[in-house]
Amino acid sequence: MIVPMDSSVLSPGLYIVATPIGNLGDLSPRAAHVLAHADAIAVEDSRVTAGLLRHIGTKRPMTPYHDHNAEAVRPGLVARMGTEAIALVSDAGTPLISDPGFKLVRDARAAGHLVATIPGPCAAVAALTLAGLPTDRFLFVGFLPPKAQAKTDAIDEIGGVRATLVLYESGPRLAATLALLAERLGDREAAVTREITKRFEEAVTGTLAALAARYADAPPKGEIVIVVAPPGEPVPASEADGDAALAEALTRLSPGQAAGEVAKALGLDRKTLYARALAMKA
Ligand code: SAM
Repeated sequence: MIVPMDSSVLSPGLYIVATPIGNLGDLSPRAAHVLAHADAIAVEDSRVTAGLLRHIGTKRPMTPYHDHNAEAVRPGLVARMGTEAIALVSDAGTPLISDPGFKLVRDARAAGHLVATIPGPCAAVAALTLAGLPTDRFLFVGFLPPKAQAKTDAIDEIGGVRATLVLYESGPRLAATLALLAERLGDREAAVTREITKRFEEAVTGTLAALAARYADAPPKGEIVIVVAPPGEPVPASEADGDAALAEALTRLSPGQAAGEVAKALGLDRKTLYARALAMKA
């Protein structure tokens, strides 16, 4: 759905509007247009969104939509979408990303209403662009659970995933989380990105253990995203590994079968292994 920028009347429905994560200059013209013309804006904190509306010189009715009242107010909001343009924002960034909203989208769709997105800033994606780590595959982890056992379990669950990991974290918990990540995942390369798009934006890179040590006695202020490199490539098997595996396989199998089995298990070339197996037999 393309929102026409010249129309002051928005079609009824739900508009998911991304807002800046620090620098107000990052509010897109389309986001500003929708916020200025929505019949109502569902907000996490009306004081935060009032500041944004002041920045674009507008005032719109706001209705609170957050974790504590969402169940109660959602049906009413969805009903209004039949005749009104309802915008959804979070305090900062993209709604639904570690923020409320997915059930509102689900229910708006189920009711047959228009659902439009106005994409924009998201701390997870911004952190990835700063970290200098692979971006071809990444897993958004969001916030880890606060309780110790649940946190360890959550890290163990993603330990084998061959993707860069993106986690939201707070300053006081940063060092302990980095140390636990190092312990459970191995000492991978990582980046701590902080205060993105704000005056003191920074990205500090190093291994997880080195970063944990750096922040142990100096918890940083501000908002933080941790980016962790994928697990290293498995160490390729050597010729000696191949010979040892072949020798064992030849006690059970023909040279052809042994070469096939070892090639598959160790990722080595089957033809070379076959020649080697014949030589070993001889
Ligand atoms: N929906 C938001 C988004 O699109 O990124 C995220 C909301 S989540 C409740 C808030 C967390 O996002 C913060 O605790 C921090 O981890 C991260 N975050 C938000 N703004 C940030 C910024 N400017 N710099 C670094 N991290 C930020």
